[in-house]
Amino acid sequence: MAGSAKNSPRDTPGDDKVLAIDLGGTLTKIGLVSRKGSVLKAEVFKTGAMGPFEDFMDQVEQVFAKWQKDPGIKPLAMGIGAPNASSLTGCMENPPNFNWGNSIPLREALKEKWDLPAYLTNDANAAALGEMYFGVARGLEHFVTLTLGTGLGSGIVSHGKLLTGSRGMAGEIGHINVFPEGRQCKCGLKGCLETYASVTGIRRTVMELIAEGGTDSVLSAYSYDELEGLTISHAALQGDPIAIKAFEFTGKILGLKMADTAAHLDPEAFVISGGLSQAGDLLLNPIRKHMEARLFRAYRGKIAVLTTEYSSEEAVLGPAALAWQHLDEGGV
Ligand SMILES: [Zn+2]
Repeated sequence: MAGSAKNSPRDTPGDDKVLAIDLGGTLTKIGLVSRKGSVLKAEVFKTGAMGPFEDFMDQVEQVFAKWQKDPGIKPLAMGIGAPNASSLTGCMENPPNFNWGNSIPLREALKEKWDLPAYLTNDANAAALGEMYFGVARGLEHFVTLTLGTGLGSGIVSHGKLLTGSRGMAGEIGHINVFPEGRQCKCGLKGCLETYASVTGIRRTVMELIAEGGTDSVLSAYSYDELEGLTISHAALQGDPIAIKAFEFTGKILGLKMADTAAHLDPEAFVISGGLSQAGDLLLNPIRKHMEARLFRAYRGKIAVLTTEYSSEEAVLGPAALAWQHLDEGGV
C-alpha cells in the first residue's frame, strides 16, 4: 500500500479530501488526504506535550493558515488520532507523558476553531481503520492491529467495524496479563503484555539477559537508556546470542497472547506495526511459531500475521480513514 500514499493519477485537484491529525507524544503529523488515501499535503511539528495545550493549538493553526491560502483546499471533515483519546467523550483522558490536564477536549477545540465536522479516536484505533481503508487489511472484516512502539497499542475490527466497547476503551491488549507478578507497567499493573512486547519491553529483556551473565554480547556495552530497538535488531542479524534470545522471548510472549486473542475474536489476521515490526522475520518467525502452537484447533493455519506497509510519515492515513468512515456513514 505504500505506493497509494503518493499522489495517485486518479486524484484530481477537485477531488474530496479530509484533514487528518496524528497527535503523538513527540511529533504531530497533519495531512490533507484524498478518498483514495493519497497524502496531498503534509506537515510535521513537535507536539510540545510538556508545554501548554494552547501552544499546540497555535502550531496547528499556523499549518492550516498556510494551507488555506490555496483556494483548492476545502476539506470535508477532520479526523484525529491521539493517545488515550475517547471517541465517546471527544477528550484525551489522562494521557501519560502529557502536561495538558486530565481531560483535554481536543475534538471540541479543533472543531470550533475550523468549523468542520471533527472525529476523534485513540491512535491505535485510528491505525486499525487506516489499515482497513488503505493498508494491508483492505478486504478484511475481522482483524487485530498491534502497534509495537514505546508501548503496545491495539485496535480490533470485527464485522468491518471498530470494536469500541461500552466506554470507547475496548482493545487494550497491551494491558492483558502475561505474568501476575511480572514487570511493572506504567499503567500501575504488573506483568502487562506491553512491558514485554514493545520496543521498551525488548530493551528490558536484553538488560535482564545480560544481567544473568555467562553469555558474551555486543549489547553489554550499552546502558538501558542508550539501547535502541534497531541496535538489538542489528545485533541479532549479526548472530549475537543475547539479541537472538531477546527476539525469541518477545515473539514467544506475543505469540501466546495472540493465540489467546484469537480465541476471543476469531480474526482473519493480525497486523503488526510500530518500531519493533521493522525487525521483520526476527520477530515474526517466533510469533508465528508460538502462536500456532497455542492456537485452538479450529483456528490453526488460518490466521495471517501481516506487517504494515505504512511508513511513519503515513501515520495520517489512520485519522483520515476515521473521517472518511464517518462521512461514508453520513456523519455530520
Ligand atoms: Zn499495563
